[in-house]
Amino acid sequence: PLSCGIVGLPNVGKSTLFNAITQAGAESANYPFCTIDPNVGVVEVPDERLQKLAEIVQPNRIVPTAFEFVDIAGLVKGASRGEGLGNKFLANIREVDAIVHVVRCFVDENITHVSGKVDPIHDIEVINLELILADMDSVERRMDRTRKNMKGGDKKYTQELEVLERINAALLAEKPARSVELTDEEKLLVRDLHLLTIKPVLYAANVSESEAADAEGNEYVKRVREFAVAEGSEVVPISAKVESEIAELEGEDKAMFLEELGLEESGLDRLIRAAYKLLGLYTYFTAGVQEVRAWTIRKGMKAPQAAGVIHTDFERGFIRAEVVSYQDLVGSGSMNAAREKGLLRLEGKEYVVADGDVMHFRFNV
Ligand code: GDP
Repeated sequence: PLSCGIVGLPNVGKSTLFNAITQAGAESANYPFCTIDPNVGVVEVPDERLQKLAEIVQPNRIVPTAFEFVDIAGLVKGASRGEGLGNKFLANIREVDAIVHVVRCFVDENITHVSGKVDPIHDIEVINLELILADMDSVERRMDRTRKNMKGGDKKYTQELEVLERINAALLAEKPARSVELTDEEKLLVRDLHLLTIKPVLYAANVSESEAADAEGNEYVKRVREFAVAEGSEVVPISAKVESEIAELEGEDKAMFLEELGLEESGLDRLIRAAYKLLGLYTYFTAGVQEVRAWTIRKGMKAPQAAGVIHTDFERGFIRAEVVSYQDLVGSGSMNAAREKGLLRLEGKEYVVADGDVMHFRFNV
């Protein structure tokens, strides 16, 4: 499954946020394919369309889709030179698909700040620099190899070197690799480098409990927002402390607590949604009497691959899919009504699945 790594300097609230994530935790029996590891928290992706589908289908259970947050603790200044848990830390970041970077926007005299004062932009830059330095190392080594390979006369390496040089120039200017505009083809040339700064980032601005409802008014959050806009990243203000309290509640109690705080939904739900968007993920549904369930795919996936998310057998034996869009199904009121209106389509191997498709797969075993 796809995952988001949580990074940040010490004492910014990462553990508090990660604990809220595991507290809110998904029913692991539903997600046997997810990693069992104390550093991994599986979260369910909130999606109100599931309830609507359940009203139509009346299933025995509803299962939201899930994805993983990985707690990547231990980043300190000097990590790229192997200090602290440096190397292990960087290796862990390589494995995630996107990064949630927690920054401290709360003031509390009792909690030490590693650089002496609250300054989220400085914090971001400290971490980014470590990641940039690590990437420079990878890019330089690759450039040496590419230059050697070029002597063979293969055009591919000329193009590769050109891409590497552009990335290197950005890194030298202390800019992340994601700031370099690359075509899909160019991205493919450097994909196996697993660059850290090419991964999409969202900043989780951790504010104090008292500011949870009006986080946008916080001066630090404003600064983080300006910084993020300039680099094309997202910001999700969140109060890790409040989230850890919310995570202990369910149903009515949770709704009441949120209302008291003046919040429409938990920060965690907003963070999950933002991470989902950041990763370019789509949801499709299966809707049977046993269960109505959401599944995660990458944008652009074709029907057999999407079926493979449920089970590899579904992909291997894929014949075709019966598809109705969520809108059409809900608009028709029932599967039969949708069929009668001709809204149920038969799609083959080349069909690109759309967000919200309700799918039924036919396959050979
Ligand atoms: P980490 O080192 O980034 O994992 O940070 P922790 O989650 O362990 O948090 C460090 C300290 O800051 C802990 O004592 C937390 O209780 C505290 N903390 C986290 N978030 C907040 C907050 O929003 N307000 C205040 N006052 N303290 C917080």
